[in-house]
Amino acid sequence: MACRSEAFEVVSTLGKGTYGACYKVRRRCDGRIFVVKVVSLDGLSDRDRGETLNEARLMENLRHPNVVEYTESWCEAECLYIVMEYCTGGDLGRVLRERGGRVGEEEIWGYLADVAEGLRYLHSRRILHRIGFGSVRLGRNAARTVGAPGASARPGSPPERLARSMRKGKGRAGFRRDPLWPSARVGDRPPPVGWRRAQRASAPRGGSPDAPPSTAAAAPFSAFAGDRAVVGDLGLGRRLGPDSALARSQVGTPLYFSPELCQEQPYDHKSDVWAFGCLLYELTAGVPPFSASNQIALARKIVSGPTPRLIPGYSSHLQSLIEAMLDKSPVRRPSLTQILVHPSVAARVDAIR
Ligand code: ADP
Ligand code: MG
Repeated sequence: MACRSEAFEVVSTLGKGTYGACYKVRRRCDGRIFVVKVVSLDGLSDRDRGETLNEARLMENLRHPNVVEYTESWCEAECLYIVMEYCTGGDLGRVLRERGGRVGEEEIWGYLADVAEGLRYLHSRRILHRIGFGSVRLGRNAARTVGAPGASARPGSPPERLARSMRKGKGRAGFRRDPLWPSARVGDRPPPVGWRRAQRASAPRGGSPDAPPSTAAAAPFSAFAGDRAVVGDLGLGRRLGPDSALARSQVGTPLYFSPELCQEQPYDHKSDVWAFGCLLYELTAGVPPFSASNQIALARKIVSGPTPRLIPGYSSHLQSLIEAMLDKSPVRRPSLTQILVHPSVAARVDAIR
């Protein structure tokens, strides 16, 4: 029986993550580009196996313009394969680096509205996210066909070079020999007949010629003119069970741990708001609001240290919202729903609806 992974061909390796590797892939039947996360289950304890399967389950059935779209997942040869949309614009970490550690206020409000929408949706599904820079991705374009044969796989381009070296049988960290993707072959098949014609016919007027029909019809929500933000990386998410002790485990960026998490209380949706507040602060300052040389000192600062003020140049609206999100008391801290009705956020959301 054919392996399900054979339905895709690898365009490039995006990176090795905490649990496995991410590949940019092209679906052979229609040339659409996706990301496949391959997680090795080999030698994992039952608990770890459950955690990784959790990532796939969490993403199942999630449909929101500001949440990375999951397409399918399966287990094959001791690996879990998770197919998701490809986000073309990198993550918020890239934005911060490119802006020299200080993102402009308008841009921040845009990310704020996008991420708040995505997180509120997840919270409504009782999913916690444990947000961080790497998990906010930009430039949603679920099925961009860049990288299709004749597009990015030009002679001499990295995928083509890789394909050539694969054909010569000396793959660089070769995919064929990659234990995570045993069946992968690079650039070995032309796109299906009629694919390009269908692609041209479905391209939105004035839009990107390589936008697919499905994404053109359902343009993602974005509250500002820049790259739209989608929350991804639900691997660190946790479904809130009836006993939310499930959410007690300390996973996520320690720098963004909430005071209640530092005090070993369960992580809940207000801890996500805290982490989101930390992320917004970092977009203004280039550094997290709380940092220290060791975990104990960090926890002490988070629990009882003063909330740093934004550096001059940002509005008092942004200052007061971030301060509220970094309130030590989870009860006083606003929920995502409350954040979304904040006049400055609501105005941005309304502007494009
Ligand atoms: P980590 O566990 O370190 O967060 P991931 O497995 O989530 O790593 O991702 C590895 C790399 O793959 C990331 O650095 C990112 O560049 C890329 N990546 C992951 N998901 C996507 C996606 N949906 N779209 C584009 N790139 C992605
Ligand atoms: Mg990740």
